[in-house]
Amino acid sequence: MGLLPISSNTKLVPDEPARTRFAPSPTGYLHLGSLRTALFNYLLAKRTGGQFLLRIEDTDQKRTIPGAEERLYSDLQWAALEWDEGPIVGGPYGPYRQSERTALYHKHANDLVHSGHAYRCFCSAGRLDTLARQRNQAGLPLGYDRQCVDIPAEEAEERAAKGEIHVVRLKADEYPKFKDFVIGTTGQNQDGQKKFLKTINRIYDDPILLKSDGNPTYHLANVVDDHHMKITHVIRGTEWLASTPMHVALYNAFDWTPPQFGHVPLLVDLNGQKLSKRNSNIDISFYRDSGILPSTLLNYAALLGWSHNQKSEVFSLKDMEELFNLKITKGNTIVSPEKMWFLQKAHTKRCVAENGPEFQKLVGDVTEAAEGRGNIRANLPVKETVTSLLRYDGGHFTTPAQFLDRNWSFFTSSLDRTPYTLTQSDLEIGDPTPPLVALQTVATILTLVPESHWNVETHRTNLDCIPYASKAFKKELYHYLRWALLAGAPGPGMPQIMEVLGRDETDCEYVQ
Ligand code: GLU
Repeated sequence: MGLLPISSNTKLVPDEPARTRFAPSPTGYLHLGSLRTALFNYLLAKRTGGQFLLRIEDTDQKRTIPGAEERLYSDLQWAALEWDEGPIVGGPYGPYRQSERTALYHKHANDLVHSGHAYRCFCSAGRLDTLARQRNQAGLPLGYDRQCVDIPAEEAEERAAKGEIHVVRLKADEYPKFKDFVIGTTGQNQDGQKKFLKTINRIYDDPILLKSDGNPTYHLANVVDDHHMKITHVIRGTEWLASTPMHVALYNAFDWTPPQFGHVPLLVDLNGQKLSKRNSNIDISFYRDSGILPSTLLNYAALLGWSHNQKSEVFSLKDMEELFNLKITKGNTIVSPEKMWFLQKAHTKRCVAENGPEFQKLVGDVTEAAEGRGNIRANLPVKETVTSLLRYDGGHFTTPAQFLDRNWSFFTSSLDRTPYTLTQSDLEIGDPTPPLVALQTVATILTLVPESHWNVETHRTNLDCIPYASKAFKKELYHYLRWALLAGAPGPGMPQIMEVLGRDETDCEYVQ
């Protein structure tokens, strides 16, 4: 794999270990888009031998959903995206919950005030409102007129010390362009901005860093934390692209080196609509509860924007940890549910072949679902049946429910068969015996196998060498056996069906 530089300072695989982070706000649950963000960050850290951090950005307490934080942890753990530093596991740069880092944000906001890169703004909400309304009516862009920028430092400190309500604003004369490793060089058009600043209606972005309630804004906390936590690469959704020039301005004001940024494209459905709750950007528990394997979902999420150059697109997490790079597509990414089902079948087959804990978990889940349905035939070893069926029919596995629907004839105590009808009229067995009797006879002979040899190999051999049978007869025989044993349901091949059902069950099924 050639390492193509994507910008002068970013390689497809960075030379140094990357420190990355996933920084969700507990204002919602993990969904496909945010899982992808977490995964890309995780993979970059693993690929480069770095660390993946989890940080909870809970500065907006009003929007915090009770229990969302715990759900984020359990969803990430379910997906096997374990974090090296963060809540629960700790780490050298904690605490990893922003609400516990307020003093640090105050210190840095004050540093900026003292260095002249920020100022205290005492404008009342009423004044800002009037300003906004006037500008709106005049058709001018919104912003702040810097009324408070000239308040002498001593006076501002005194008013603040007396407890006068105020915010701290960044003095942002321009927002620098920056190199995004997904999008390329981007940012505000500085010429336009400069021209704009020369107009009489001067207006500035001067974003708020500390709010009047003393809490930091997302921008301040995010920049301070990424710096203190030594984050080298930030991969996040394009919705944050517009804020990044301001973040770079903040890094410059602090005289800190910004991390490298990569904004991953929007997820859209097959009609090009932004993914929403209505069209599959449903939260991760939906996939988990429908029986999607974590490896399927991770593989699916990885393919939403990462362009690998491998022949196969079926990857385990381990594979991706070894292969991941920063070749991420710029354009919107189409989410196709078909791909997920394809991957689910492929991962089922992989985990059956590996026969490890992932397979045991799957067996457990399907067994539980089967037992939950009831009406199972007496003395059926459910778990063993599920294990064998996954081995022989795993290539058709989508969800436990669908798999059980497909294979329910193996479990049910009441096989519902309509009378057998021959599929062909041209049986050539060269014997006056009525064909159905012949089928029953051969079927019965096939059960004359000692218990010790009751396995796929024996049945395959026997079915292969039924004496004197024509192709047409054999075809009818398979049809008959499937009717007799499974009421005609689809499923694995005949030798496998016979093995899974067992000698007794196969034997007693040959009745019309
Ligand atoms: N807290 C932001 C979010 O919820 C994080 C954005 C970022 O990664 O910088 O998406």
